[in-house]
Amino acid sequence: MDKIFTVTDLGDGLWEIADSVGCRCYLVKGSERVALVDSCVGVGDLRPVVEGLAGGLPVTVLLTHRHHDHIAGSYLFDDVRIPREEEVDLGVEEEQNLHARSFYVEQGRAPEGAFWAMSEGRRPNFSHFEEGDVLDLGGVTIEGYFLPGHTDHSMGYLLRERRLLLAGDAVTPCMCLFFPESLPIADWRQTLDKMGEMPFDTFRIGHYSHEFTKDDLRGFIVAADYALSGVRGLSWMYTYIEGLKGSLYISPETPTDDADSPDFRAVIGPYVPREHKRRRRRGTQGAAAGDGESGEER
Ligand SMILES: [Zn+2]
Repeated sequence: MDKIFTVTDLGDGLWEIADSVGCRCYLVKGSERVALVDSCVGVGDLRPVVEGLAGGLPVTVLLTHRHHDHIAGSYLFDDVRIPREEEVDLGVEEEQNLHARSFYVEQGRAPEGAFWAMSEGRRPNFSHFEEGDVLDLGGVTIEGYFLPGHTDHSMGYLLRERRLLLAGDAVTPCMCLFFPESLPIADWRQTLDKMGEMPFDTFRIGHYSHEFTKDDLRGFIVAADYALSGVRGLSWMYTYIEGLKGSLYISPETPTDDADSPDFRAVIGPYVPREHKRRRRRGTQGAAAGDGESGEER
């Protein structure tokens, strides 16, 4: 593995920082302050990378939600904000981070003996950022919008002047709504409507290097409506938490079957057990085919 972080200059004071695991955070620079939206999974020392880009300006970390693969790097910073209602349990997230590390090393995505922020840094002293709160970076204004679904108080950060939304995991090609802290699919469907009304043209998310447009929301809405239509999903196992299952609904309009593609459209909701009495008709294709998928959060 050559290096842990890949930094991409997106122009006009915005950078994407991707770690070797595929988590992404975004550095936004104003004339007086920088904001780091999310902080990756904690592999490698993120702080010098951020400080190098910040050029001496103070850094505020804005977290989209509680999950360890977004908050771990914040253990290296002093000013860290998250919605109060996310009710982060750092003990739980640290445990999941430890568990995930062994997978990443095994898979060759993190080097053996790497620096891990949750071990090397210290628990952040969170302050809170609520819907409607504004952070002025000097010529760049960031505003918070709740985007509930993936977690109950996931937050999107709108870069007002740029009309760009940094959405974390609030809307992803394989939408994960199977966590205990996730909301029902119908609630996420409302978030998609809310996003349709918000003043942005494009959005970026936590695990893909891709700029989505507002028009892309339509494909997510089709996936949500399909999952809500009463069809039976495929049973799906989460790789990183033993026993955590979900039901996977692949949008009938997904243009690709490649679950890693930014064009993939699917929803993983809470696990719905099969109805054992229901007989499968001979020769029918559909949801039962390929049952038993597994994967990681995307
Ligand atoms: Zn997440």
